[in-house]
Amino acid sequence: MSKASSAELPKTVDPYRLAEQKIVLEGDIPLKALHRFGDSVYGFEDGAVCHVKLSFSMDSERRRMVEGELETPVTLECQRCMGPMQKTLVSRFTLGLVTSDEQAQQLPKELEPFLTDEFSANLWSMTEDELLLVLPPFPLHERDECPAREELEAFEPVDSGDEPVKKSGDNPFSVLADLKTKKH
Ligand SMILES: [Zn+2]
Repeated sequence: MSKASSAELPKTVDPYRLAEQKIVLEGDIPLKALHRFGDSVYGFEDGAVCHVKLSFSMDSERRRMVEGELETPVTLECQRCMGPMQKTLVSRFTLGLVTSDEQAQQLPKELEPFLTDEFSANLWSMTEDELLLVLPPFPLHERDECPAREELEAFEPVDSGDEPVKKSGDNPFSVLADLKTKKH
């Protein structure tokens, strides 16, 4: 799905003003601009973008929040055959805007902290953090599609089950904490 006509998501915004005005931003980020993400994946097509929708709002306690959705095509490295596999990463997240670690600790559990300056937040970097969080730690082709399946079957007793290999969607929490506290 090419969205060549879609506008680029603004990189830097005034997040508190957007929250007070309940602004919705929608746009694309070129994947080639996200170097940490680029280093973590097998690759992506030329011109590939991450499509992002961000809804800024303020709750009854005047807590500023961002609800986000993202979707991007990417190529990952199958950990069985070490070959490329196509995947679409999707994520939904709800962040609470904070300007200090103290504020971050006061957020209700359902909000992830989004640490920003008071008048400036880097939306590209925040999106990149979210992308890194949804990267599967152990990507595998479907068994029928993996070029390494025959070698695999030679070593394993073949029983009835085409049991899917269990994939964990969770990254180690330490990585998450690390990403969330990084200030850009
Ligand atoms: Zn494979």
